[in-house]
Amino acid sequence: MSDSSPDKPTSPNFDAALDFRSGWSYSEAPESSDYIELDENYGHYIDGRFVQPSKGRYLESINPATEKSLAKIADGTGEDVDAAVKAAGKAFKSKWSGLPGRERGKYIYRIARMIQEYARELAVLESMDGGKPIRESRDVDIPLTAAHFFYYAGWADKLEYAFPGRKAEPLGVCGQIIPWNFPMLMLAWKIAPALATGNTVVLKPAETTSLTALRFAEICSDAGLPDGVINIVTGAGQTGSNLVNHPDIDKIAFTGSTEVGKIIQKSLAGSGKRYTLELGGKGANIIFEDAAIEQAVEGVINAIFFNQGHVCCAGSRLLVQESIADLFISRLKDRMETLIVGDPLDKNTDIGAINSKAQYDRILNYLEIGVEEGAAIYQTQAELPKSGYFCRPTLFTDVGQSNRIVNEEIFGPVLTIQTFRTPDEAVEKANNTPYGLSGGVWTDKGSKIFQTGRALRAGVIWSNTFNKFDPTSPFGGYKESGVGREGGLHGLYPYVHLTS
Ligand code: NAP
Ligand code: MG
Repeated sequence: MSDSSPDKPTSPNFDAALDFRSGWSYSEAPESSDYIELDENYGHYIDGRFVQPSKGRYLESINPATEKSLAKIADGTGEDVDAAVKAAGKAFKSKWSGLPGRERGKYIYRIARMIQEYARELAVLESMDGGKPIRESRDVDIPLTAAHFFYYAGWADKLEYAFPGRKAEPLGVCGQIIPWNFPMLMLAWKIAPALATGNTVVLKPAETTSLTALRFAEICSDAGLPDGVINIVTGAGQTGSNLVNHPDIDKIAFTGSTEVGKIIQKSLAGSGKRYTLELGGKGANIIFEDAAIEQAVEGVINAIFFNQGHVCCAGSRLLVQESIADLFISRLKDRMETLIVGDPLDKNTDIGAINSKAQYDRILNYLEIGVEEGAAIYQTQAELPKSGYFCRPTLFTDVGQSNRIVNEEIFGPVLTIQTFRTPDEAVEKANNTPYGLSGGVWTDKGSKIFQTGRALRAGVIWSNTFNKFDPTSPFGGYKESGVGREGGLHGLYPYVHLTS
């Protein structure tokens, strides 16, 4: 009788690599997008109307999954920014700042409900314009956007409880500049607290993802928001710079790269304008040997591959205790192999398109840098669509603290893995970065969570989870990750003068 006889029990071979791609695959499950009606050209939204750009110049907004243009958006000039700031100033003085909080709250509640009403359309548009998987825009971005408006609507008539014994006065016209990774959510983080506290707004969305902000402008109109309270000026970096340097702006709220944040901070120095800066990150995700391994693997996947890794607070540096490193990395690779990279509008897709050609090239450049630095690269076998900007989930091992891929923000689906032996070493490595936005701690021991969490120099620390957001919870950075907090009660402070 041969060894392969069915009568003879054989023990499973745990060392053999699992083959996830040979058995079966999901059928396509596309979300319908035929009802999305886009104009050919979009103007700026100023003083309650869409107006054409003063110089008549437009920029293309591309669908990064198809590389095809979706629509043209106005390229804002200094004149356009000036018109928007004037409209916001007029609305502030003539109407908005004088409304009782409960009246402002009604408008914000109405906007929140309308976002819920149009949630599916907004999610589809967000995925088409930005490349993120529909599962994420549908289940995370848009519901959280509505939640932020609901939350701050609730504060509008309760500012006396937010700041007991003091009077909270609005600042005036707020210039707000947002990035492309969470276009609607970042808009909500900025606009909702500004409106609740009685300010008016000029917002510049990112050049590659302005379409949902323009749809939001229509929602504000339909909600009956008074003209000029919200103004949206589209364009590139220069448009943002014009907004920052406009003399009649009272506050700048910026979310974006540390590089641009530093430029903005320099130009605001001495101007008396208030500002908050939410900048980059290089979050450490620490796995102790007593962590629940399967849950931690799932958490690492969420920490770095959520939204293609275009997440400022991504857990992009994995620190895993040496005693479990081999097992953990092997399980992580198995789980990575199951990730589906593809059409953002397919409900099975885990990893959508990289947001733009520029970001795609930047990520590829970092992959080359990692290999040149001597790190070992691992990429999954995932099939990639024939067109569009797509990147396989990637991890680097054999990396050192001084490597560029460990120090610099890649902002893509790329994880570096280092090991540690003691909790002190983990904290030392985690804090050895110019950034300080987020961190994660995975352990069975509550005491270790508190000890490590306290020692980490980062604004947000998750324990036994990652990338969880809630409007009631403040968010922001230490060191080069920024200044100020958004979200929660803390998110009201940057929008008010407190007097006694
Ligand atoms: P970015 O290049 O700094 O751009 C952010 C925004 O600023 C965009 O609207 C951009 O316009 C505009 N801008 C560019 N140059 C400007 C200037 N000189 N003056 C004023 N505005 C200017 O960042 P990004 O590449 O879009 O976004 C990715 C970065 O944002 C990452 O570093 C990420 O970590 C960070 N981020 C941080 C948080 C947080 O809360 N801490 C959240 C999300 C993202 P254009 O798009 O037209 O260039
Ligand atoms: Mg786009």
